[in-house]
Order: sequence, then structure tokens, then C-alpha cells
Amino acid sequence: MDEHAGLPSTRWSLRGLTEEGDEAWLIRGIAHKLYRCPGCHGEIEIGTEHTVVQYVRRLGGTDHHHWHRQCAEELLIPELSAIKRVPASESTRPRLEKRGRVKSGRRRR
Ligand SMILES: [Zn+2]
Repeated sequence: MDEHAGLPSTRWSLRGLTEEGDEAWLIRGIAHKLYRCPGCHGEIEIGTEHTVVQYVRRLGGTDHHHWHRQCAEELLIPELSAIKRVPASESTRPRLEKRGRVKSGRRRR
């Protein structure tokens, strides 16, 4: 996991697979409002660097959650398989939402 230390960053995002076969994209974000972290149920304050986790579902559709960086590293990343570093430019929300409209069988890996 060391090769992914400090990621996601402004340049690199991470992409892994959940047990269900959904894609989980981890993207660096800045909180524009108050979020609650699903990992620890604590607040992510406005202006804080954190990890946006965008799921692209195997059966189509997307949804996202806001995590503390440390919670994502300790709780979420260990649950994912096939984690890869991907350029942040490939993980913008419009691109991922478009990806969620394509059935996974026809998705470019
Ligand atoms: Zn947390």
C-alpha cells in the first residue's frame, strides 16, 4: 500500500474495486460545505482537504461520499482490490457520471 501513500492528490486519484464489483474512485477534494464522514461519523469542516469516494456501480449509476483522508486510508482502501493510481484528470465527476451510464460489460477498463 506504500506506493499509494499520500494519495489521492491534486494530480493522482485512486481506483479500486469493491467486493460487489463496483468501481470506487478516490479523489482529493476540498469541502465546500460541512460533510459527515461515513467512516467515523465525524464532521469534515468546510475548507478541509478530504477524500471524495465516487462509486461507479456495476449495474450503472454513480454515487459519492466524503471521507476524512485518514479514515479512507484506514477503513476503506483496505477493503478494495486492484487499486490503481489514475490521473486526476480522468476522475472528474462528469466523466465518472458518464461512465456510470454505460453498462460495465461495455466499459473500457
Ligand atoms: Zn472520518
